[in-house]
Amino acid sequence: MKQEVESEEKVDTVDLKETPEYELKFVDRALETNEEEVASKIEENLVITYKYYEIALNDEEIEKVDTVEEAEELVNSIKEENNEEDLDLTILEKYTQNQEEANTQDVELAKTEIQAKVTEVIEQKEEQEKIDAMPDVNGIKLATLPISGTITSRYGASSSIRKSTHTGLDIAATKGTPIKVVAGGTVTFASYNGSYGNLVKVDHGNGVETWYAHTSKMYVKVGQEVKAGDVIAAVGSTGNSTGPHLHFEIRINGEHVNPQLYLYN
Ligand SMILES: [Zn+2]
Repeated sequence: MKQEVESEEKVDTVDLKETPEYELKFVDRALETNEEEVASKIEENLVITYKYYEIALNDEEIEKVDTVEEAEELVNSIKEENNEEDLDLTILEKYTQNQEEANTQDVELAKTEIQAKVTEVIEQKEEQEKIDAMPDVNGIKLATLPISGTITSRYGASSSIRKSTHTGLDIAATKGTPIKVVAGGTVTFASYNGSYGNLVKVDHGNGVETWYAHTSKMYVKVGQEVKAGDVIAAVGSTGNSTGPHLHFEIRINGEHVNPQLYLYN
């Protein structure tokens, strides 16, 4: 780009190198040139362009550094240290005429910042993988176990305290342990019900229902919408029970099925 600065015979031309870097050269400066005047003319015509390197993770800008070498070294070391070759870390060469926008970061600080974001992304990815690995029941994705604990009675087992075979799975845990609903849905039952004690039933759609029995406390009401993982009750020993445990049932179109076909397997 060649810009000409007219200055009433005092200055002939000012050559500016192509963007982004400018270098000023006075060519054939006339003897009577007033330097201040020249400088102000140049300032008027000069647009400073700043160059920096932006590091982005999954298309989100994280940090800016001065040189491509710094950017590459950062990206490579982050990938190596996290053992994640396919991290979507990209380097973009950027130009701006806004000085503030061109403020770059100290490399060490940039690394800390990028690492924090990378850790976040890796954790989200692992979380998603866990969810993806969860089973579905008749098209309803289960997102979590209701509780963790020890299985004390399996589906179909016979017991002296029951008339028929076991319609659910018993998981022992201390009284008060929060019980999570395994998938989103609507509460269809939440009250005391004979041998089940305090019973919560949640309808997940597609004819799938889950039941949570013998609870010490129920935190939901009939008609309430729940999200997967919401705490709906607490472990107890109400109804026909010999100690604190969750009796967990999965029902498809009203028929109980073996929960261990899906969870705790
Ligand atoms: Zn049971």
